Amino acid sequence: MNPATLARTSQLFIGGAWVDPATDEAIEVVNATTEEVMGSVPAGTASDVDAAVAAANAAAEPWSELSPNDRAAICTGIGARLQDRAEEIASLISQELGSPLQQSLMIQAGLPAITFMSMEHLVEHLPWEETIGNSLIVREPVGTVGAITPWNYPLHQIAAKVAPAMTAGCTIVVKPSEVAPLSAFILAEIMEEVGVPPGVFNLVTGTGPVVGEAIVTHAGIDAVSFTGSTVAGRRVSELAAASVKPVTLELGGKSANLILDDADLETAVVDGIQKCFINSGQTCSALTRMLVPREALPTVEAIVQAAIDEVKVGDPSDPKTTLGPLVSDIQRERVRGLIKTGIEEGARLVCGGSEAPEGLDTGYFVKPTVFSDVTPGMTIAQEEVFGPVLVIMAYEDEDDAISLANATRYGLAGGVWSADEERAKRVARRMDTGQVEINGGVFNPLAPFGGRKMSGHGRELGPYGIEDYLSLKSMQL
Ligand code: NAD
Repeated sequence: MNPATLARTSQLFIGGAWVDPATDEAIEVVNATTEEVMGSVPAGTASDVDAAVAAANAAAEPWSELSPNDRAAICTGIGARLQDRAEEIASLISQELGSPLQQSLMIQAGLPAITFMSMEHLVEHLPWEETIGNSLIVREPVGTVGAITPWNYPLHQIAAKVAPAMTAGCTIVVKPSEVAPLSAFILAEIMEEVGVPPGVFNLVTGTGPVVGEAIVTHAGIDAVSFTGSTVAGRRVSELAAASVKPVTLELGGKSANLILDDADLETAVVDGIQKCFINSGQTCSALTRMLVPREALPTVEAIVQAAIDEVKVGDPSDPKTTLGPLVSDIQRERVRGLIKTGIEEGARLVCGGSEAPEGLDTGYFVKPTVFSDVTPGMTIAQEEVFGPVLVIMAYEDEDDAISLANATRYGLAGGVWSADEERAKRVARRMDTGQVEINGGVFNPLAPFGGRKMSGHGRELGPYGIEDYLSLKSMQL
């Protein structure tokens, strides 16, 4: 992080200015590879939230009066500056979180820039006004939005809320994860630099129970967009219900990668491992359950073993590294505990285990771990592990495979592999999830992203992502 930005991280960004927090309490940010403290941010309080909401409310009307095109053009400027600072952002997030530098450049730094820059194109395709019979239907900003985000793709998750909310004409108070909050300060600097009107974007760091809950319950917050765990999402939903605030929830997942019997096994399995282990398995839409025909189990395990032998665990700044550490000690202990539970419950370890990888005692490293003979009742088949842990489950036929895929309380993502694309699409339609990738179909940053069941509701990204920040009004003429 450059020294000028680092100097800002003892303050909050409220009403277009860097301001001192109400108290001196701070939260340390730890480097996931060295375990050393790399910075700290204010532990904000309810009074900091009051100040941020007041600034956001004051900015709401003039901002909503700009045209969507003008607001989207400002977002393009923000995206361009994010692009200029991509290397700095990628390196910072790699240190906080442990994602390998090349992946960080593409996803952690690249994706937020794309999201901001996509707004100008998207506003052209939204029906801002339409006529139905004698009614004029207009889409208006929902008002001041509270955005609460997790640590696993810290800047992407902020961008996925801030860019569409700003484009819709909303003002926003952001609370990033206290575990990886630093890139949010770079975004705030850019907001100031490109001349976003004071109060449109406000940043308050702190913990969920203090700052998060103050945002959710604040009378001046009109809508909440939350990304994080299902447990915290449920709490946010309960608190928001008291004032009947709309809430968007992007929560956890336990997504199935369904490999049909006519699929090319080598391609499907190798791609599946990558889709499970990306970002050390700390991805909400990670394909963590690989479903394979029972008769293919030995072949699948052999392919898995060979692919895992190629995984290079280590320092994320080393270009050869493909798997970095987990984000924190807490997360590492949780993942190791779940690996032990998997063994105790009778799942067969194909590779990996709960001990630290050889020679990596410092840093929150966990071995890439694969279980086979996993059955739906096992903890590792149901719990979101959020680490480099893949479970392989055998199915008898297509119907059995689909019911296994849907046998989870989550409904975020999924994959289907088949030599016959029409068959794959038929199976994908029967999966109870918000998105399905077919034969490794790549992530589309303009397609709606979100879940069903306990993975949440609402959609982010692309035109549907902007819709979530708009409220319909009909005028009868
Ligand atoms: P988390 O729920 O612990 O924290 C997420 C955010 O919520 C943080 O900013 C935290 O401070 C805040 N928070 C915690 N308790 C709160 C409360 N009571 N009130 C208000 N805010 C509160 O999640 P995490 O550990 O940061 O992230 C990992 C989780 O996020 C995983 O479950 C993952 O699947 C999920 N996730 C989902 C998506 C998605 O789009 N569906 C994307 C990324 C991550």
